[in-house]
Amino acid sequence: MTLEDMTVRDSLTSLHTTGTQVHYCALCERKLWWHCHQMEQEHASDRVAEGRELQEEAYPDRSDKDILLGGLVRLDGLEESGGKEAEAVITVHETKLSRKATRAQRFQLLYYLYFLKRVGVRNVRGLMEYPRLKRREEIVLTPKDEAELEGLLRRIDEVRDMPSPPEVAEPMGICSKCAYQELCWG
Ligand code: SF4
Repeated sequence: MTLEDMTVRDSLTSLHTTGTQVHYCALCERKLWWHCHQMEQEHASDRVAEGRELQEEAYPDRSDKDILLGGLVRLDGLEESGGKEAEAVITVHETKLSRKATRAQRFQLLYYLYFLKRVGVRNVRGLMEYPRLKRREEIVLTPKDEAELEGLLRRIDEVRDMPSPPEVAEPMGICSKCAYQELCWG
């Protein structure tokens, strides 16, 4: 199955999570809760804006960037190469500023690979790109990753349904750059 003939929307009944939610769950469940409950701080965050600008700066001529699938997941880039039908390789690009949250970054990209697998796309790989570090890493979805990711997806549903944000005992290193810092720590 190629990108042209996949019918994403028909296969989405059980998928309702975004890549950002996967990233946040792996990073900080409290951040995930704020995000799910539509606290709008992220729009004011310089780092979020910086991430969007990075794409434009690093790949101004890439025509396959910023792809929205099924109205749910937004890919930094999606590329098909290496032949037709079964021979084609689908590459999902994810662009990041730094390697400061590599586990969360990895799960976000793994989720995109999982998402495409669930809608019937084969031969998918991920490419994590750090243009400012001049570095790229290939990511593939292994059965072990898939099991761990499914646990994370179940946890996202649990956190989303909590009546109040999960507690975090004390500020962490990532809090100083977080858009919700004011909400958490005043
Ligand atoms: S400020 Fe810290 S504890 Fe609060 S949501 Fe952000 S990362 Fe989590």
